[in-house]
Amino acid sequence: MTSFSLRRLRLRSGEQFRDGVEIELEPFEFGGQRYLPVPERVPAELTVTQASTGTVFELRFSARLHGPCMRCLADAVVDVAVDAREYHAADATSDELRSEYVVDDQLELSAWGRDAVALALPDQILHAPDCAGLCPVCGKDLNVEPHEHEEERTDPRWAALESLKDRL
Ligand SMILES: [Zn+2]
Ligand SMILES: [Zn+2]
Repeated sequence: MTSFSLRRLRLRSGEQFRDGVEIELEPFEFGGQRYLPVPERVPAELTVTQASTGTVFELRFSARLHGPCMRCLADAVVDVAVDAREYHAADATSDELRSEYVVDDQLELSAWGRDAVALALPDQILHAPDCAGLCPVCGKDLNVEPHEHEEERTDPRWAALESLKDRL
């Protein structure tokens, strides 16, 4: 887990701090599948800007995730570019304007980074944009073995009979 101590910054209003940080990313669960960040540690650029009413945090990095294609389960790789922004009010009376990633003067970079990657992910992770997926009738990989079944066999009852026949 990576966190960044805000205590040592002591920025005054209008001042900005910018530095390179390294973030440790955790594996993701997405659509019931597990995706691993490779590498686990990514270089990021952190910008902290002090405003009179609070602090603005900006985080930029790119990450690469490895995991199964959501259509055919082959290995898929997805690159995401993260450009995230958080505002944390100095005044503790308004919960809405407090960033959940600021805890005890620590900026929780791993938690923020993970959530930011999740938001940057495409709707579907595919091994190739035109992945044909698995055949809904017989379950074979349509990328390896493109085929169609005759229309009548798409009826689930026929499919059941078909698989019975295969087993005989
Ligand atoms: Zn695929
Ligand atoms: Zn099929």
